[in-house]
Amino acid sequence: MDLYESKRKQMVEYQIKARGISSEKVLEAMMKVKRHLFVPPEKALYAYEDRPLAIGHEQTISQPYIVALMTEAASLTGSEKVLEIGTGSGYQCAVLSCLSGSVYSVERIKPLAVRAGNTLSGNGFMNCEIILGDGYNGLPDQAPFDVIMLTASPPAMPEKLLKQLNDDGGRMILPLGTVSQTLIKVTRYRSRFIREDLAGVIFVPMVPGVPDYT
Ligand code: SAH
Repeated sequence: MDLYESKRKQMVEYQIKARGISSEKVLEAMMKVKRHLFVPPEKALYAYEDRPLAIGHEQTISQPYIVALMTEAASLTGSEKVLEIGTGSGYQCAVLSCLSGSVYSVERIKPLAVRAGNTLSGNGFMNCEIILGDGYNGLPDQAPFDVIMLTASPPAMPEKLLKQLNDDGGRMILPLGTVSQTLIKVTRYRSRFIREDLAGVIFVPMVPGVPDYT
């Protein structure tokens, strides 16, 4: 029981379930992960509102419904090896970690990577690893991945990441585009890639390179 439990319940009921997310496992994970722990402390009161929130460095934690929509699209069964690009606050990573075998999450902004790593390990999310790096490269040493999820929007399909998908049903969920973005799901069967469009969305851009914070 925590102070925010009733707010979290309302979030799941009215923002997520009411909009058509029906996977019990996804709803349970959204109920379990304490979103207020992943936002800056002065914003904890707003953590369960129906919108993204600023987390510093011009980045945002996504709206709860979008996190649930992307997670449901990943069709996780509990054993998957997952790659997330864009750790940000670590919230999406925590939700994925409840539903999969392991999550590798790549972030290019060092202070965000460090803070998210501390939040996750401090709250018992032990099957996640945060890596400082440029997500455009993916993690070739750990590939293939059953699921790759991008939470920043590339202007064009990131080819290197497609190659790191499990070639027998691996799926990539990503916002694609610049001004106008579409959330899409690409499923790989060997050299075939099947695309489904899920929704219109607004994400921060996926930016190449790792800025120097030393
Ligand atoms: N999943 C996050 C949302 C973070 S916003 C959450 O739950 O809070 C998107 C994040 O993607 C930002 O932190 C941004 O720094 C990061 N990002 C943008 N381009 C990137 C790249 N090329 N490689 C890795 N991370 C990137």
